[in-house]
Amino acid sequence: MIKFSLQNRIMNSLETIEKQYPLQVDLSNCAKEPIHIINRIQPHGVLLTYLFESEKIIRCSDNSNRIISYSPVELIDQPISKILSKQTIDTVREKLSVDPTYFMDVTIGSVKATLIVHKRGEEVVAELEPSKATVNPFEYQTQLTSIVSKINSLESVSQMCDQTVHLLSEYLGFDRVMIYKFDDDWNGKVIAEIREENLEPWLGLQYPASDIPSQARQLFLKQGIRLIPNVSYESSQIISSDKVSDNPVDLSNSELRAVSSMHVEYLKNMKVSSTLTAAIVHNGALWGLIACHHYSPKYVNYYQRLACKLLTQVFSSQLGLTLSNTLLQQANRTSKVRSKLIEQMSRSWDVVKGMENFDVGPMELVECDGFCSLLEGKLTCFGETPSVDKINELVDWLLENACDDVYSTSNLGVEFPASTRYAKQCSGVLVIFLSREKRELLVWFRKEKIETINWAGNPREKVFIEKDGSLHPRRSFERWKETQKGRSLPWQNFEVQSVKSFGSEIKKLVIKQYDKISALNKEFDQAYKALESFSYSVSHDLRAPLRGIDGFAQLIKEEYYDRLDEMGKSAIQTIISSTQQMNTIIDDILAYSGLGKKEMRMGFFPMDKVIHEVLSLLTNTYHEVNIKDIPLLPEVYGDYTMIKLMMTNLLENAMKYSSKQHAPLVEIGVLSNTEGITFFVRDNGIGMEQKHLNKIFDVFNRVAGGEYPGSGVGLAIVKRIIEIHQGLIWVESKLGHGSTFYFRIGEVREIDRVVLY
Ligand code: ADP
Repeated sequence: MIKFSLQNRIMNSLETIEKQYPLQVDLSNCAKEPIHIINRIQPHGVLLTYLFESEKIIRCSDNSNRIISYSPVELIDQPISKILSKQTIDTVREKLSVDPTYFMDVTIGSVKATLIVHKRGEEVVAELEPSKATVNPFEYQTQLTSIVSKINSLESVSQMCDQTVHLLSEYLGFDRVMIYKFDDDWNGKVIAEIREENLEPWLGLQYPASDIPSQARQLFLKQGIRLIPNVSYESSQIISSDKVSDNPVDLSNSELRAVSSMHVEYLKNMKVSSTLTAAIVHNGALWGLIACHHYSPKYVNYYQRLACKLLTQVFSSQLGLTLSNTLLQQANRTSKVRSKLIEQMSRSWDVVKGMENFDVGPMELVECDGFCSLLEGKLTCFGETPSVDKINELVDWLLENACDDVYSTSNLGVEFPASTRYAKQCSGVLVIFLSREKRELLVWFRKEKIETINWAGNPREKVFIEKDGSLHPRRSFERWKETQKGRSLPWQNFEVQSVKSFGSEIKKLVIKQYDKISALNKEFDQAYKALESFSYSVSHDLRAPLRGIDGFAQLIKEEYYDRLDEMGKSAIQTIISSTQQMNTIIDDILAYSGLGKKEMRMGFFPMDKVIHEVLSLLTNTYHEVNIKDIPLLPEVYGDYTMIKLMMTNLLENAMKYSSKQHAPLVEIGVLSNTEGITFFVRDNGIGMEQKHLNKIFDVFNRVAGGEYPGSGVGLAIVKRIIEIHQGLIWVESKLGHGSTFYFRIGEVREIDRVVLY
């Protein structure tokens, strides 16, 4: 017995739906429109749902009477066996226990239809599409195989797109078949098209993201394919049994689901009468859409839709393969450049030199117009970059605003407005921080790339307001050109990844080289110590035979001098002076090689005290040399004996090498500037040629002639003592015009005193 009239049921269903589904959908709420529970279908088929267990029909679309000659009232709460054979029901039950969807051809009364079923919770959603043409399975199979093999044989994405639109247009006969590709902001661009000659070309046109709102994209992802055979359709309402009338059925996977009224209006504004849309999915996300438009109503049967779905899937997987191949090639290329750069750096023991002086530079790692590195406070630029001041400004901003180790933007002006002043040179940056603390980073720059976008209509005029105030989708699809400024070419994912890896490889290299240098330093230290003790013991051992030689030569001189002829006298004299000279050398070598062994006794003492002590000994030997008044000098922190030895060598040289000049004068003093306190010892002696200045601090490097005695070790001792005290020494000199030795010692302090020595 029928408890309620159809009218009643419709009213009940409507009431419930109104609660959940906005009555009026316009552009203000269309992005939120819950189209999966629209509760309406397109009228070219019937939708029924029945409970999987009890097999009782609980919903039915209100067009059922017209298509299968049963009204919803006659079907709701009735067993599904009322219209489907037991065998069909059993097959459906069996198939849906393992597969999400199933389809088969059925006959209901005199109506032949394709039955497409899927499960939604406890409900089986059964859609019946009357089939007008019979499908020849052999022909269908052949067509599919040919389509698949044609797509599979292509390698580039653009070839694949062109081939796909051709195949589809041939197979389905739509007036226009296009492929849209979505960009990162979900704007869609037509990248392939085939159309009837009389139609205006849309290839290259861009459609704003708002044309396909996000929930519609979600449904495309779920359903894969959507047909609207006639955009001017009158939708059919789904009537539900009382028990479920509170919950509209989820139509996400339905074939017949009605589409948003806004979308219908949009298509009508485009003058399109029928559409078939298929989703191209890459890595689980919507990559693009295949859109087929027809300018009169056009029905595509389920088998053809399946073929189209299969083609899209083949396209998607071929796309995945092609894109990953391209990615692999790009990654291989950049990884080669990366390892070359790292090898260069490791060969030159320097990150910057490794990028500068070889065949492969950092600009080859990613496509760019310029590059800069900021390392150890030094900025090095390659190619076209903003000025140094601007780079410094940018680095300050990056340090404050870019949180991750890698930062990239192709629209710097929006992120960092100060950069718009030099947008032409730099609209995109890709940055890797090597050390934030030390302000060390590498930056690749891209210039502005002015681009003209051909929008299908003004993308900002999405809304059309009717006189009554209601909102409608735009009506104009007139080509609308927009010039995009202040943007660079976007940074590709593989480029960002490659720069990221480059950064970590540099960090690893620096650590490795630091370890290597530490190990080498250790080895060097050990070798140095071994050499020191070797020269110490050799020098020490030479003393005894030398003493013997000297002793016997003195003996000969004293006892046999008169018996020697002139030649013998001169020879004995030479032996004695040579042994004396050798003794001086041994003294100096012992002093030099003993420096490392000596235990340091550190303390503060006034420098002028040391100088006075040294001079008191030297003035006896070099009495002809004048010493300018010595000012009060600051205190230094060091080993007193070592500093005294150092000053002895410096002052002795100054006096020795000026002693033969007219009015020899030595001056000792101190300079103070921002770099610290610098002592100096100046003489007006023989001076040196420029080319010798960097050698004189090495052991046994003598420049002066034999008229000035010496071992060539004195300045090596000076340098070593300065190094031990973490100081610095250098010389300014001109041949015949005297020399000035400058030096600094680790710690110096000014003292407040009036003391005379
Ligand atoms: P030496 O025992 O020969 O003085 P040093 O190591 O002290 O050895 O100096 C190395 C060389 O540097 C000297 O041989 C001399 O040619 C040059 N030299 C050092 N000090 C002076 C100076 N004040 N004026 C000119 N030449 C100097």
